Amino acid sequence: MNESYDLVVIGGGPAGLAAASTAARAGLATVLFDENPGIGGQIYRGITANPVRNRAILGEEYWAGTALAAEAKASGATIVNGATVWSLDASLAVGVSVAGRARTIQARRVIVATGALERPFAIPGWTLPGVMTAGAAQTVLKAQGLLPNGRTVLAGSGPLLWLLAAQMLRAGARLEAVFDTTPPLNWSRAALYLPDFLLSPYFKKGLALMREVKRRTKVRAARHIEAVGTDKLREVVVDGRRIPSDLLLLHQGVVPNVNLAIAAGIDHRWDARQLCFVPVLDADFGSSVPGIAVAGDGAGIAGGTAAAERGRIAAIAAVRALAPDAAVPDPQSARQRLQREELGRAFLDELYRPPKALRRPEGGTIVCRCEEVTAAEVRKTAQMGCEGPNQMKAFLRCGMGPCQGRLCGLTVTELIAEERGRTPDEVGYYRLRPPVKPITLGELASLPASEAERRAVER
Ligand SMILES: Cc1cc2nc3c(=O)[nH]c(=O)nc-3n(C[C@H](O)[C@H](O)[C@H](O)COP(=O)(O)OP(=O)(O)OC[C@H]3O[C@@H](n4cnc5c(N)ncnc54)[C@H](O)[C@@H]3O)c2cc1C
Repeated sequence: MNESYDLVVIGGGPAGLAAASTAARAGLATVLFDENPGIGGQIYRGITANPVRNRAILGEEYWAGTALAAEAKASGATIVNGATVWSLDASLAVGVSVAGRARTIQARRVIVATGALERPFAIPGWTLPGVMTAGAAQTVLKAQGLLPNGRTVLAGSGPLLWLLAAQMLRAGARLEAVFDTTPPLNWSRAALYLPDFLLSPYFKKGLALMREVKRRTKVRAARHIEAVGTDKLREVVVDGRRIPSDLLLLHQGVVPNVNLAIAAGIDHRWDARQLCFVPVLDADFGSSVPGIAVAGDGAGIAGGTAAAERGRIAAIAAVRALAPDAAVPDPQSARQRLQREELGRAFLDELYRPPKALRRPEGGTIVCRCEEVTAAEVRKTAQMGCEGPNQMKAFLRCGMGPCQGRLCGLTVTELIAEERGRTPDEVGYYRLRPPVKPITLGELASLPASEAERRAVER
């Protein structure tokens, strides 16, 4: 690795891969950092070394990632895996750790393509052993080719829930049932956006997935889900019905992974339709911090194909800024493809809008898993006058653990908003500072203290 690059891309999913390829092919010195052992991000996880031999299990859409990965590898970009970016600031200095050694890399432009995370799904018992997210089970399937072998229940809502159910059933997993928590009223809200949805690629894909799952296992509507057990999950209670279970997989949609972007000082706003915070961006995905763009699902949820187009558009803007004479594709065609991909998004956002009850827990339900802070504690502290999540941190330590608020941030914001009669935008989100990912003191200490020391280390 050099100590400086024209473009640093953070994240090896479709957005990052497309951005790195586009920029490197146009001649920019480009490096891509991704914390995973291989490139692919969430949707194409393990694409370069996938243990799942039967292609039908993961579906053709997954294998479409092979071309994107090959393109990035052939583009001339430096791709560094096992590289965790823990800091990014307005001077475009990137703090990264590789194999236990920390470094600061200087960039002229940065594209943050850190993707999405699963929305918190704080229900009673969600911290029990035997309760995981659907995305975690899919990660294990894609990266290790492993399936759960006990009595497994899937619960929640959103495209990923149906996709994982289909993938697990194709692979031979036993699913006791799928409990769909999509509120029936959401269909009427979504109907407004149906015409666009019918024209989008999601319609046929989604319908086929739902039909496949309903043909192969029980699908039931559900409103209230609870995980029960003392030492581990023993039963899932769905609207009062008790189902003996060994594994409960929860999912209620994905939201932008905002931690690095917020810690870099990028402005964010509340997106009332996607019920999450999104960065404030221009038409080229440029952010409020000059020189930093945010592409992919980190810019708002739109899916893998849209993520790649956003990466291309952001990279073309970086090339045009740094090497105006370089040959780059016309961004217009990427914009048109992006528009087509985003066509069905509004329908999906409205249809899979998680119900308040599953976003705003009550009582003893744990909200902050790291610090074991309950919903009752957050609500009571808000009633006592706590205005925002950063004050809540000081009172209850929520958001101060290893996940840095990734698993509780949205819940805490929504609970404060509800208790104080304000909007999530008014309440705001945690103030985040580097390191945004845990690093050891040894890594920090390994950082060269001066330019001279750096040169000595590099030699
Ligand atoms: C668990 C999960 C599973 C999903 N599975 C699917 C699926 O099967 N099909 C589908 O259509 N959509 C899926 N999605 C939706 C997914 O968000 C998009 O489809 C698509 O992957 C978004 O692409 P992206 O490039 O924006 O980000 P991602 O694909 O999420 O890639 C971002 C990459 O950045 C890495 N990263 C994040 N922070 C750092 C850091 N600080 N340092 C270094 N690396 C970092 C991440 O580990 C990840 O590899 C999934 C989402 C989640 C959360």
